[in-house]
Amino acid sequence: MTNTQLWQSVLAEMELKLSKPSFITWFKDTKILKQSENEVIISVPNTFVREWLKNKFQKEILEALKVFLPKINKIKYVVSKQHSFTPKELLSAQKKDFSQPKIEFFQNQKTGLNPKYTFKNFVVGDFNRLAHACAFAIVKKLAKTYNPLFIYSGVGLGKTHLLEAIGNEIVNRHNKKAVKYIPCPDFTSKVIAAIRDQKIEKFVSQYNRFDILIIDDIEFLSGKERTQEVFFRIFNNLTENKGQIVLSSDRPPRVIEALEERLRSRFEGGMIADIGVPSFEERVAILEQKLEEKGVGLPQEIIDFIAQNFRRNIRDLEGALNRAIVLFEYQKSSEEIKNNLKQLVEVPKRGISAEKIISQVSDFYNVNKKDLISKSRKKELVFPRQVTMYLLRKELNLSLPSIGVKIGNRDHTTVMYGCEKIEEKLKKDEDFFKDLEIIKEKLYSL
Ligand code: ADP
Ligand code: MG
Repeated sequence: MTNTQLWQSVLAEMELKLSKPSFITWFKDTKILKQSENEVIISVPNTFVREWLKNKFQKEILEALKVFLPKINKIKYVVSKQHSFTPKELLSAQKKDFSQPKIEFFQNQKTGLNPKYTFKNFVVGDFNRLAHACAFAIVKKLAKTYNPLFIYSGVGLGKTHLLEAIGNEIVNRHNKKAVKYIPCPDFTSKVIAAIRDQKIEKFVSQYNRFDILIIDDIEFLSGKERTQEVFFRIFNNLTENKGQIVLSSDRPPRVIEALEERLRSRFEGGMIADIGVPSFEERVAILEQKLEEKGVGLPQEIIDFIAQNFRRNIRDLEGALNRAIVLFEYQKSSEEIKNNLKQLVEVPKRGISAEKIISQVSDFYNVNKKDLISKSRKKELVFPRQVTMYLLRKELNLSLPSIGVKIGNRDHTTVMYGCEKIEEKLKKDEDFFKDLEIIKEKLYSL
């Protein structure tokens, strides 16, 4: 059976199960690239479709495939580059309105929201399309779609922006809804104060009356048992009363350490959406959007230079842009501006060390630092150790023998094997790819 015939048979099944618009949305521009006895590789136009097929239709697709491939147990999705968006398309998806005068923004005392973060100035691309779509679904149908909505990404990739945009949009649409945005560290200190003043019941009942509660950086709950307990009560009360909860974190719930199981399962019971890292075109689109917003222009050469060199996150991208704007206003030449920006690029690299890699990896996988670099062959240490080797090689360019020395006096062939293992896994395992992104983000930001 050819790939086309096989996919046609799956599509025929799926078409029956879905409404027409939904069928077209999810299966347009998809095809089978490769099939074997137990695995099929499907090409999809973007990560948004990939996430939906993976999360919502995986079972049905497998069943349909089983009719012809009885041994199939795995589906891989590949995002085909041909379909990726040009900056222009990305931007046209955004409604632009820069007629507002520039004003300083202040945090609203009651809601905790900063009005500068809106949907309007949030650029949407493949890297954040799923999170954006979920956020918008919440705005349209409070507590009727995903509850909680859990958004995670590395630092500086738009979690706070998106969370606040949800809050601001709800305030704008329904001024009667009680909205609360609070970063988790602030929430924790409020809980501690309430416990100290023996006002915990009052505190809980205050939170019960919100229609939507948005807590940023929820990973901060890790290890804070009393705060977790209080939050669990609020979570249950709120969801029972048809309240909406939105959370963000630097990692998915399953890798937040020291988090009560009942909370973890609540988090996993809603919708989990990640934000990835923007592509070059998306970075250009973001830069152009920020320039329009500020009402200033820069030579294309500089915009491209920034997009090429600041890849890790949007915060750094913006930092570089702001510096470039100032330099440009001081009539520096493009060459001078680029040279100046180069210093910014190099700063984070200099900031990392083997120690930092070792401690970030052990932190992420929740293993002891000393064990990680010991001779122990315990199974749970092998994988994090290989990740460490890989990062030492890739991020610090260390030689194989010197990595071996750092990591329990191992032979260079062991290091080579470890790095290869990780390279292989990175190609195959989407989740692991994201985990590694998170580790790297932390390496460069902390
Ligand atoms: P995080 O909370 O994930 O660390 P932030 O939301 O603080 O990241 O984003 C960092 C900066 O990047 C902010 O200035 C934010 O406005 C900007 N930013 C992030 N995502 C986008 C986006 N999609 N479009 C425009 N600006 C963005
Ligand atoms: Mg944030």
